[in-house]
Amino acid sequence: MRCLFCKADSSTSRSVEHIVPESLGNVEHVLPVGAVCDACNQYFARKVERQLLESPMFRLLRADMAVPNKRGRFPAWQPADGMERPNYRQMGRFLAKVGLEVLAFKTLSVQGWNDELVNLAALDELRRFARYNEGPDWPFTVRTLHAVNAIFEEGDQSFELLHEFDILFTRSSEAYLVISIFGVEFVINLGGRENDGFRRWLEENNWASPLYAPRAA
Ligand SMILES: [Zn+2]
Repeated sequence: MRCLFCKADSSTSRSVEHIVPESLGNVEHVLPVGAVCDACNQYFARKVERQLLESPMFRLLRADMAVPNKRGRFPAWQPADGMERPNYRQMGRFLAKVGLEVLAFKTLSVQGWNDELVNLAALDELRRFARYNEGPDWPFTVRTLHAVNAIFEEGDQSFELLHEFDILFTRSSEAYLVISIFGVEFVINLGGRENDGFRRWLEENNWASPLYAPRAA
């Protein structure tokens, strides 16, 4: 097994990578040991995810939704803290990291998935931006899909949604990560720093979210 980000041999690594941090309520979406090596796992936790989780906006959302961190503590938020969004570049790097991991998550059942993704040159720019902070900012789109505490119903179950994600493949063979965190949709192109293809997809699909739009096979 090799690491999806630094491509080093990760067969002695021990950490399980959470695609979305546990502090955002994720317990089920993880990658197998070695998909992300220990060094990269720790790097992302300290240098990318921490800044997001500590931003006023994310603290407010976590406090509202009563999502504890992995030590079981709830974030503190006071009105004086404001609602400032996380830094744009940091948010982009987080989305780049999540995008590559969601791609891996969706191909885990395919034989040879690790080699294939590690060797895919089309993803190298994304890897280097996420892991080594290289190159200019990576654009992404943001819009609100539903209220943070909206209640969804399915059969006789009702539930709140903390996060959902999918990969959108457009007609021009681009792959986009689409993720909703607390009802806010973020979309990032995994293959390059432009999202014209997503804009065209939106126009053709009446501005639906790819998370909920019926999909052609
Ligand atoms: Zn690594």
